[in-house]
Amino acid sequence: MTVLRMTTMTSQSNRPSRDAAPANTSDLYSPINDEPDGHVGGHKYIHVVGTSIFVDTLIADESWSRHVVGVVEGEAWWAIDVPAEAEDPSYGAALDLYSYFGRSSQGEWLAAGRAVQLVEWARTHKFCGRCGAATEPSKGERALGCPSCGLIAYPRVAPAMITLVTRGEPGPDQEALLARGTNFPMPMYSCLAGFVEPGEDLEGAVVREVAEEVGLRVGNVRYQSSQPWPFPHSLMIGFRADYFEGDLVLQEAEIVDANWYRKDDLPTIPPGMSIARQLIDDWVSEDLQ
Ligand SMILES: [Zn+2]
Repeated sequence: MTVLRMTTMTSQSNRPSRDAAPANTSDLYSPINDEPDGHVGGHKYIHVVGTSIFVDTLIADESWSRHVVGVVEGEAWWAIDVPAEAEDPSYGAALDLYSYFGRSSQGEWLAAGRAVQLVEWARTHKFCGRCGAATEPSKGERALGCPSCGLIAYPRVAPAMITLVTRGEPGPDQEALLARGTNFPMPMYSCLAGFVEPGEDLEGAVVREVAEEVGLRVGNVRYQSSQPWPFPHSLMIGFRADYFEGDLVLQEAEIVDANWYRKDDLPTIPPGMSIARQLIDDWVSEDLQ
């Protein structure tokens, strides 16, 4: 079934240390949804040009639609929808989110990802999906409503699971399953990932995707952590799972190669702060605790 496009961060310069990262996004956005009326402090405007961003302290055109991102690190952040036909206010300087990662704090990067998702949602929900009438912003909530039939559209978030499967007892001899997807932009090995299907729970998605992609039966699925992944609107939900049985049988359309790896013999793994890298790093560091 659907495998996520596993892209990677392109730069690690200025990477914020994990100690400096917020514990979770409630520490980052305060508040997340409410319009910052009476906000004392600066404003930042994330101009969304296509799916790239250009951050400025001034809004390039007051007539462009805007969305509250939240108050981030003391500043009110706004997402500005730069119309496709408008002149690029950045004159080509807008960065895609991968490039922005290397130039921003983790908080800024998460806020920029949220901005792109909100703008993309509004752009793709201008008309009601049921009756085709033009939608309007709903009062009191972040939603687009249909004045004709009443259908409400909320910002989309697509849950996707990502899992690190291990085999053997904890310790230096334990192995992890890492795979290279057909759509990876570079030769590297990562955790298995895929979208959750309607009617499916997360643990079931882990077991199903692993079986589909590499033919193994796994279990003892444990939640680890999550990460917003704005490409275009995923929420990556990270798990660990234990190998139960089976031999590797690759789903050729999606997996180029997959192998078991010891901690002291890892292949090239995802760079940056992707949750895939975090899952792998956490596993490797278990022996050190
Ligand atoms: Zn409608």
